[in-house]
Amino acid sequence: MEFELSEEHRLIKDTARRIAREVVAPRAKEVDETGEYPHDFFEAFKKAGLLGMAIPESMGGTGNGILPICLAIEEVAKYECGAGLMLVLSGLPTRPIVLGGTDEQQQKYLPALAAGDTKGAFCLTEPDHGSDAANLETRATRDGDDFVLNGNKVYISGGTVADYLTVFARTGGPGAKGISAFVVDAHSPGIRIDRTDDKMGVRSVPTAHFSFSDVRVPAENLLGGSEGNGFNTAMLTLNSMRPTVGARGVGLAEGAAAYALEWARERKAFGNAVADFEAIQFMFADMAIQIEAARNLIYKAAWLVDQGKFTREHAHHLSIAKAFATEMANRVAFDALQVLGAQGYMKDHPLERHYRDARQLTIVEGTSQVQRVVISRAMIDRVLVYG
Ligand SMILES: Cc1cc2nc3c(=O)[nH]c(=O)nc-3n(C[C@H](O)[C@H](O)[C@H](O)COP(=O)(O)OP(=O)(O)OC[C@H]3O[C@@H](n4cnc5c(N)ncnc54)[C@H](O)[C@@H]3O)c2cc1C
Repeated sequence: MEFELSEEHRLIKDTARRIAREVVAPRAKEVDETGEYPHDFFEAFKKAGLLGMAIPESMGGTGNGILPICLAIEEVAKYECGAGLMLVLSGLPTRPIVLGGTDEQQQKYLPALAAGDTKGAFCLTEPDHGSDAANLETRATRDGDDFVLNGNKVYISGGTVADYLTVFARTGGPGAKGISAFVVDAHSPGIRIDRTDDKMGVRSVPTAHFSFSDVRVPAENLLGGSEGNGFNTAMLTLNSMRPTVGARGVGLAEGAAAYALEWARERKAFGNAVADFEAIQFMFADMAIQIEAARNLIYKAAWLVDQGKFTREHAHHLSIAKAFATEMANRVAFDALQVLGAQGYMKDHPLERHYRDARQLTIVEGTSQVQRVVISRAMIDRVLVYG
C-alpha cells in the first residue's frame, strides 16, 4: 500500500495550486456575482494541459487518470467550486466517448476536447426524469442515414459554451435497454437553449435547458455504432466521475476551514482570540477529522477508477466516497461560516459562497439518496460484506 503522491501527481497538484491562486482566487467573488462563465479559468487549464487527463494518450489525451484530476480539482475548489466543476466537465461528457465510442469516434472528437479546443456537455437529465434516468423520454428515431432527435434536457452544466453534447436518448423500447448515446453538434439546427438557471450556488458555470426539435444527427454519431448501450455507458461514466465530484467537496471544505482559521486567530472576543476558545478549537478538529477521512476516501475511489474498477461490483466504493465527501463539505462549510459569526453571513467573506456552493454537491451526478440506494443494494446483495 502506498500513500505518497508520485512526482507526476505532485507536479499536477502544484500547477493547479498556482492557477488556483493566480487566476481563480482573484475572480472567485466576481464570477459568483455575475454568473458569467469564466473563460480565463478555462484558458489557464488549457494552457497548463489539465483538460485531457481523463482521456487516454491513445485517444489524444494526456492519460494521467482520475486521481490527478481529483488533485487538481481539490486545489481550485478551495477558492471557487465552479472551477472544480470545469475540470469535472473535462471528463463527464468525454468519458462516454472514451468508454463507448468507436475508434473512429474517439479519434474524431477526443483530441480537440482534450486540448481544450472544443468543449462538451453531458445531457442525461430531463424535466420528468432525474434520478430515474432509465425512463428518460428524449427520442432518437432512425430516418435514412440520420437519427431524428426530439425531447428536452435540463440543468446541463456548461451547456451554454458547449460545442458537443453527449446526449442519451431512447431508440428502442422502455427501460434502460432502449437507451442509446450520441455525440451531437451543439449548434445543429433544431437545438435551442430555452433558458439558463438562476442558481443558488456554483454560479460561474451556467446550467442550460435544451430542447431538441427534429434535430438530424448522422447515424455515425451513435456512440459505439450500436443501439441500446447508452444507459450502461452513462452509468459507467457517472461511476468513474464520482470521485471528482467528491474532490470538489474536499477542496471546498479545505478552503472554508483554512479561511475560518485565519480569521479566528485574529478576531477577539472576551479579551481572547476566538481561536483560543475550546469550543471553536474542537470545531476545527472536527473539520480536520472529516476532511482527512473524505480525502482518503476520494483518493482511494479515484485510484480504483484508474485501476479500471468502476463497474457495478465496485460502484458502492465510489458512491460511499461521493456521498461522504459531499455531505462533509456541507457540514464543514456550515461550521466554518459559524466561526465567523455575523461576518460569516456577509458577502464580504467567501464562506457564505462556499456554503451555497456545497449544497449543489449532494444533488448532482446522483443524489445522496441515490448513492445510498447503490450502497445498501451492495450490502443486501452481499457484494459489500463486513461479517
Ligand atoms: C447545478 C446542477 C448541475 C447539473 N448538471 C447536470 C449535467 O451537466 N447533466 C445532467 O444530465 N444533469 C445535470 N444535473 C441534474 C442532476 O443530475 C439531477 O438534478 C439529479 O440527478 C437529481 O434529479 P432530480 O433533480 O430530477 O431529482 P429527483 O430524481 O426528482 O429526486 C427528487 C428527490 O427524491 C430523491 N429520490 C429520487 N429517487 C430516489 C430513490 N430511488 N430512493 C430514494 N430517494 C430518491 C432524490 O434524492 C431527491 O431528494 C444538474 C443539477 C444541478 C442542480
